[in-house]
Amino acid sequence: MTQPNSNNRLTFASRCAKDAVIESLNGHLPPIYATSTFAYPSVEWGQDYFYGKKDNSVYSRMGNPTNKAVAQKVASLEAFDVILEGKEIELQGAFFSSGMSAISAATMACLDKGEGVLAQSNLYGTTNELFQVLFPRYGMSNHLMDFDDLNKIEEQLKENPNIKLVYIETPANPTLKCYPFEEIVFLAKKYDCYTAVDNTFATPYFQRPFQFGVDLVVHSSTKFLNGHGTGISGVVIGQKDTSLFKKVKDQQKILGGNGSPFEAFNLNNGLKSLPLRMQRHEENALQLAQFLDDHSAISKVNYLGLKHHESHELSQKQMFGFGGMLSFEIKEGYEKSVNFLNKLNFCTLTASLGTPDTLLQHPASMSHVNVPKEQRISNGIGDGLIRVSVGIEGIEDILNDIEQALSNS
Ligand SMILES: *Cc1c(COP(=O)(O)O)cnc(C)c1O
Repeated sequence: MTQPNSNNRLTFASRCAKDAVIESLNGHLPPIYATSTFAYPSVEWGQDYFYGKKDNSVYSRMGNPTNKAVAQKVASLEAFDVILEGKEIELQGAFFSSGMSAISAATMACLDKGEGVLAQSNLYGTTNELFQVLFPRYGMSNHLMDFDDLNKIEEQLKENPNIKLVYIETPANPTLKCYPFEEIVFLAKKYDCYTAVDNTFATPYFQRPFQFGVDLVVHSSTKFLNGHGTGISGVVIGQKDTSLFKKVKDQQKILGGNGSPFEAFNLNNGLKSLPLRMQRHEENALQLAQFLDDHSAISKVNYLGLKHHESHELSQKQMFGFGGMLSFEIKEGYEKSVNFLNKLNFCTLTASLGTPDTLLQHPASMSHVNVPKEQRISNGIGDGLIRVSVGIEGIEDILNDIEQALSNS
């Protein structure tokens, strides 16, 4: 019997599709272990866990077999083809109740009281709140800045030796601007900082940051990894058996951010078709981007696959494709954008991403209402900017709907 998640020779697509058989009844899919606790066959068996000698499942907050199986699958995808210092990297995953619970566990595992995080100012909104609202209350500082200028990043690190974590989101939401892993990780190491990357937008199908020596990858697996919009979950991936990953697991144990095995089962099913979906998301996104680029009502299209995108070249250097997310600016601004969205029939108006159907949202009136207007505009998010998570439907239906909504608004 193959044990695909421990078999480094399998292709990326096979790692997605195949499940390790995790119990003696030979279930083809991992069962949902709907149990809070696990009976100990003997005192010695229980002791082995509590003394840290074996990773037995003893209580579902600390580890549930369904959760472990899916976290290990995501870890094996992040590890695919990643060779560090001549060796295949060994990664480990932990499954969380949401992307935010994964992000808070990962970032807090890296920091002690008095230490701080350095991050780009155009972060996912709630991550921004975590750093700016929650961190200071617990004695951790935040240093948010424009990540465009590497010299300025180095200045910050030099001036603030308390910074111990550099946090990166690339491609960034919703402009798809990318930041260079190689240079940023180099600087982080030079100043003795951990690096953590939010890989939600790209997924390991398009980007595997461990290749560049980062310490942790976090996911909102609510999005492309689950791929069907069926629930909320998150994953943290790190190098196996390191003291850092042990701290992540401790955060999970103490703060209780473990995900439900039912969500783990849904995520596992979604992962099976990840490569097919991502290919199709990308094909459709490229066609929609080209259509919008030629459209007279649109002033700007942000898609990594377009040659004029400022990160087109960088994305080719550090990614395996351009992804399924794009945004575009409607010339006439705020009111026209609102009318346009209200005229959509086929596409869905909502703020999430990574589902089979196409989702549109308007950052200026939705995801970014709490960002001061000046900061929003300087981050490239104008009043007429629309973000699209391009789905896997027939491209004609997407194009027809957007065309009719543009001309009727
Ligand atoms: C959605 C999202 C999150 C938060 O994830 P939840 O599962 O909603 O908690 C974090 N980062 C990015 C980039 C996201 O898109």
